[in-house]
This record gives sequence, structure tokens and C-alpha cells, in this order.
Amino acid sequence: MDIAAIDRSALADAVDTARTAYAAFEAEGLKLDITRGKPSAAQLDLSEPMLTALQPGDHTADGVDVRNYGPPAPGLVELREIFAPLLGVPVDQLVARDNASLSLMHQCMAMSFFHALPGGAASWAGEQVKFLAPAPGYDRHFSVAAELGVELVTVPMTTEGPDMDVVEELVRADAGIKGIWCVPKYSNPTGATYSDEVVRRLAAMPSAADDFRLYWDNAYAIHHLGDERDELLDILTACAEAGHPDRPFVFGSTSKVTFAGGGVSFFGSSPANVEWFLARDFVRAIGPDKVNQLRHVRFFGDTAGVEAHMRRHAEIIAPKFAAVRAALDEDLGGLGIAEWTDPKGGYFVSLDTVPGTAKRIVELAKAVGVALTPAGATYPYGNDPEDANLRIAPTLPPLDEVQRAMHVLTTCVVLATGERLL
Ligand code: PLP
Repeated sequence: MDIAAIDRSALADAVDTARTAYAAFEAEGLKLDITRGKPSAAQLDLSEPMLTALQPGDHTADGVDVRNYGPPAPGLVELREIFAPLLGVPVDQLVARDNASLSLMHQCMAMSFFHALPGGAASWAGEQVKFLAPAPGYDRHFSVAAELGVELVTVPMTTEGPDMDVVEELVRADAGIKGIWCVPKYSNPTGATYSDEVVRRLAAMPSAADDFRLYWDNAYAIHHLGDERDELLDILTACAEAGHPDRPFVFGSTSKVTFAGGGVSFFGSSPANVEWFLARDFVRAIGPDKVNQLRHVRFFGDTAGVEAHMRRHAEIIAPKFAAVRAALDEDLGGLGIAEWTDPKGGYFVSLDTVPGTAKRIVELAKAVGVALTPAGATYPYGNDPEDANLRIAPTLPPLDEVQRAMHVLTTCVVLATGERLL
């Protein structure tokens, strides 16, 4: 953004209009919330038939009585067959687990402190482990690392993925850097999908650590907003071809496919990593919730069933993303005081404002009853050095509330920018 090029007199006019609008919002007593990327009730209703997808007597899959403890250790093969093509992981390298991929990431990171990873000479015990954190990024990734004492090293996120010149230099030089957080498709919050070149460079780059891992959180692998879709290169193949088959840990879940908190999750990786994971996981739990796994199998039927289901999600949420785009275009388009993303999928829009205004925008919006994700949340330790990035999460509220909240947001952007520049 070119701050010097901002037309100050056009901004002053916009501030006058925004003051009037803001006073009206104050009088209205709004209560709106666009903070978290949760599915709306209408989206959850799409999966309502899953609650009765299992009937008494329907409890066997592949000869397994799902009501009992016992194999298969990687989870029901029927479920893994449905999701393997969607996650780009061979069925026998895909593990199905319970309701949160985040807990798998936490578990993998925590277990690495006690057990050497394939390719690693020793566990991480006693080391100051670091992970690269492309930012803006997902706040809960940062929290997992912080919780486990892993230091986060911020690297810039571009429209193609993390800035690979920075990543390569750091990873080559520092054996304490054991991994990188990646949301490779429809990234949280920018919506960017990693380019083929970025994927290949991540797969091929030399690392000082012998057990370096890509935490490949493909949370939005199938969450397209329309027919125009981003394509993501297959990370397992790219890493195997580059001679680093053990580098990627792939994660995914149905939290935003079926029920958030009531879905199934996945871990995919090389045969050696899967063996490492299962050996540790069997100590943690005798097995996953196979009843819920079978419920998902019955509900979807096959991979095409999942894809059809995701198109119905898109019909509900695409108009909300269009409303976000329309408000930003109409209210801020000519002013040059902000930049925003226009994702083809995922759950978020990322808004960059004039440095030094993001916190103030959140404060102004809060004062008139609109909750925004805290400024800084998209950066490690909640610290956006520029105080310029805001995450917009439009899926949860009804469309008219998204429209209303967006006009409050754009009004606050104008006011805060005016305070800063005029
Ligand atoms: N990963 C990303 C990138 C997310 O945005 C989210 C939820 O917002 C999650 C993981 C959480 O997934 P789960 O419910 O499977 O733990």
C-alpha cells in the first residue's frame, strides 16, 4: 500500500460521511460478531441426517464391530477410502481419528519431545525447538506451539505461500528449526493457496535439522466457494520426489464439513511416520471413535458424496463472501487506504489497513457493538509489528448481519485512517 499516494482530501470527505454513519450505528445498539470461523446453523443443518445415518443393527464395517475396542488401528478403511483422494494421501498412509485435527497437531508436536522422529537422531527433549510461522496465519497453531514451549519465528506470508527465500535461509542455517506451520490451501486468514513452486521448494530445501517437518494443515482442502478453484500440488509426492519422504505431516478434518467438534480428523504421512504415530497413539487411546467414523461413512457414501455436500455448503456461504467483497469495494475501493484478499475458498478474508490502525479499528467497532477478531491475532504472540492486519470471518452470522457488520467495519477503517493521517 502506498501511504504517500492516499488522496488526503478524498479521505477527509470520507471521514465526514463516516462520522455521520458512526453516530447512527451508536444509536442503533448493534450486537454483531464476525470474529470466529464457525459454520452457520444452516450449514450444520446440512449434516443433520448424519445423526440418524446409523440405525440399531448397523454397526459393522469391513467385518469390524464398531461398538467395540479393537482394530483397525488406522481407523475404518471405508472412511479412509472416501477421504484419501480428497487429501491426496494413499489409503494405507492415512489415519482416521476423532473430532479435532488440532489435537493431532498438538499430539505430534508433544510426542516429538519424547520420541525421536523417523530420520532424527534424538527426540527434541532439552532443546529450544523453533517452528516457522508464516504470518498472517492461524492463531491456534501459534497457541499450540507456545503451550509446548516451541518458539515461533515469524516469516512473511505472500500471495503464493510463505516467502521461500526467507524460509530456505533460516531452515538451512538453524538445526533448532524443526518445522513450519502451513495452511497450504485457502489459507487462514489470507485465502492464499501455495503455488507449485512454493510446494516444490518446501519439499526440496535442505534443512539443518535431520527431522524437519512440514505441519501441512490442509483444513480447507475441499472448501471451495464456487466452480473456480485453486489447485494444490500433492505434498507427499513432491517430498518423496525430492528425497524427503518423511518431511510432511498432513492434517485434515470434517469440522467444517459435518459438525465442528463432532467430526472426524485425519493424519497422513510416509509409512515410517504413520508407524511412528500409531505406535505412540496406541498408548494414548485403545482406538478412535469408530461409531462416529461409520456414521460419516454411511452419511457420505463415497467421495462424490462429500463433494456434493461441499457444494451445498458453498451455496450458503458464497453470498456472505460476496457481501464482504461488495462492502470493501464500495466503501473503500477508491480511497487506497486498505487492501484485502478475494479467496476462492476457505473461511476468511484478510484485510490490511494503514499501519498503526488495526487495533483502533477493532476498538471503534467494539464501541458500537461489532466484535472483530482482535488485531494482532494473526501473528505469533499476538504481535502484528505493523498493527495493520484484520481477519474477517463471515460464515457464522446470517447474510444481513454480515452486510451490516461490514459497513460498520469499513466506517471504522475510514475513521481510524483519518485519525492517523489527517
Ligand atoms: N486448522 C485450521 C487452519 C483452521 O482454520 C481450523 C479452524 O478454524 C482448524 C485447523 C481446527 O480444526 P479442527 O476442528 O479439526 O481441530
